[in-house]
Amino acid sequence: MESTAGRWWAPGRVNLIGEHTDYNDGYVLPLALPLGTTCTARARPDGVLRLRSEQAPGDTVDTTTADLSTAGWSDFPAWSRYPLGVIREFERRGHEIRGLDIDLDSTVPIGAGLSSSAALTCSVAIAVRDLFAPSVSTADLIDITRTAENVYAGVPTGVLDQSAALLCTPGHLLFLDTRTGKTEHIPFDLARHGLTLLIVDTGAPHRLMDSAYATRRAECATAAAQLDVPTLRDLPTAAEIDRLPDPVLRRRARHVITENARVLRIAEQLRSGADPRTIAPFLTAGHTSLRDDFEVSAPPLETAVAAALTAGAHGARLTGAGFGGSILALIDQRRATAASERIREALTAKGFTAPHIFTATPSAGAHRLG
Ligand code: ADP
Ligand code: MG
Repeated sequence: MESTAGRWWAPGRVNLIGEHTDYNDGYVLPLALPLGTTCTARARPDGVLRLRSEQAPGDTVDTTTADLSTAGWSDFPAWSRYPLGVIREFERRGHEIRGLDIDLDSTVPIGAGLSSSAALTCSVAIAVRDLFAPSVSTADLIDITRTAENVYAGVPTGVLDQSAALLCTPGHLLFLDTRTGKTEHIPFDLARHGLTLLIVDTGAPHRLMDSAYATRRAECATAAAQLDVPTLRDLPTAAEIDRLPDPVLRRRARHVITENARVLRIAEQLRSGADPRTIAPFLTAGHTSLRDDFEVSAPPLETAVAAALTAGAHGARLTGAGFGGSILALIDQRRATAASERIREALTAKGFTAPHIFTATPSAGAHRLG
């Protein structure tokens, strides 16, 4: 019997390494968080779309599939353009969505660089697939959810977030080559080595929609064009960047090229079963590169990374697009509680918001709950 209602779930993610590489055809290495968004959905026969979110109280959206193709999207509340974009994109690809009631609820902190937006779009996308379009592939779901963010919500992300939410598996990192779409699940068992991954959400909004992200993308494209390569991914070493006349573009290109090398190096170490402590220097080097070459750090992130390292973290870095949001720290389990306290004290002593700190275990990708 065809399913007409159910509950679906998609996780937020943390990117271990590979920042600002996805729109340069490069490599990323995320894991799914145990935090996620639940989409409770019911098919309707009348073309009506009714959407609600616990995180947008009082903001029920009531529209129709016909309106979606004609309406000025600016009339819809900003948050609803993510799920409506998903629905519209299914329709645009020839799948008839007969109508839906959708209730959303999330445990992913919003705007923390942990991808609440992909958790939202992906939970809705797998619900819509199961209810109306069972033939749609996971690759298509990545494309649909990315288009929802890019075109309908107006946020120019690459494929990292959506791929992580849809493809990650428990206990593993997702190694993704964003050019080819090739993936590999690399075991990441920190507990076996007495380690843990601390996530510190600094509460500083990351303002991804701000022009800084678009500027970085444009700078990368210009650098690639000036170096006569399709993308910065095509440069395996930073030796070539001396040909760039502009020192800012040189720094941007150096970040992307060295970051790709760090992802490959970390993937190789972990694949070979090495102690995860050996990857820590590359994590911290990635942070330095984001701060100095890509210039996307922010004072609360600097404070949190410095405090984590002082408190005994083997490596620490900002994670997500930067400008605010979260950091991660690889640390011995036995030091995690004291380190969390030190990080909290360091942030509040400087007048920053008290952070939300938790440990991340690699969790499951998007799936149906019932
Ligand atoms: P991040 O993905 O890092 O959390 P973004 O700025 O990319 O930050 O996405 C956050 C936006 O996604 C929110 O401002 C809101 O519009 C939307 N969003 C995410 N989760 C929810 C939710 N559960 N309910 C309503 N809107 C949400
Ligand atoms: Mg996002």
